[in-house]
Amino acid sequence: MSRVAGISVEHALAGARAAGVDRLDAQLLLAAVLDRPRAWLLAHGDELLEPAQAQGFAAWCGERAAGVPLAYLLGEKEFHGLTLHVDRNVLVPRPDTETLVDWALELLREEPPRPKVIDLGTGSGAIALAIAHAHPEAGVSATDVSGAAIDVARANGSRLGLAVEWLQSDWWSALAGRRFDVVLSNPPYVAEADPHLAALEYEPRLALTPGGDGLDALRMIAAGAPQHLHDGGWLLLEHGHDQAGAVQSLLREAGLRQVATRVDLAGRPRCTAGQWIAAV
Ligand code: GLN
Repeated sequence: MSRVAGISVEHALAGARAAGVDRLDAQLLLAAVLDRPRAWLLAHGDELLEPAQAQGFAAWCGERAAGVPLAYLLGEKEFHGLTLHVDRNVLVPRPDTETLVDWALELLREEPPRPKVIDLGTGSGAIALAIAHAHPEAGVSATDVSGAAIDVARANGSRLGLAVEWLQSDWWSALAGRRFDVVLSNPPYVAEADPHLAALEYEPRLALTPGGDGLDALRMIAAGAPQHLHDGGWLLLEHGHDQAGAVQSLLREAGLRQVATRVDLAGRPRCTAGQWIAAV
């Protein structure tokens, strides 16, 4: 214990690097421990840490090196310009999902005034809150099957002063008889056998994989879309980089038109949308 007392900022950061923590992550963690902006660290390399700060930082570095997402340690993550509180009950929002939000915002410009929007499987509330913030006249609802996730999302909404209707629901189960102009979802879509899952062990499994081929949640959502979209309304889904063809087929089988896919920040097919045109 006495060995960590008296350690400088510079030494603490060097120790974190040696423990396998990314340089920027180490700076962000130490800045949070010291309650200083990151830039302060760079000009104060000789400043000494209190023993409790050094211990706290070392403990965080151990967790980060073991793969705990930075957002869980810091307790927050930025998404579409909003700072969201996150904990282990919710998936960490990914920048790739901003593609889905931006696409929905484009479509919402063509929708009637005060469109009804819903985010299925909202987790931290990221998608729903980003829409409510960027398109204030929309009436936004959001569901999650996890009550703990709904609590996180609701608290984010209150903190940000954004009104969203939060509902506990297994996909469409609590939405009988309700229709929307835009339905969005970033559901669990990682296949059960995908080796990538092992690297995501700290995030809720329920948010990552529905088991099997990874498509079950996407199937449920696509199948229910005709009963829950207004005429001319859109369904937008995030999916795995190798699932675009399968998701396009699901949307066409459900009777949606104008089916199209967009790529994420890395250029991989990541979001697929389709429009519901009620038969005349
Ligand atoms: N995009 C996440 C990942 O592969 C998975 C999110 C999800 O299943 N919806 O890291």
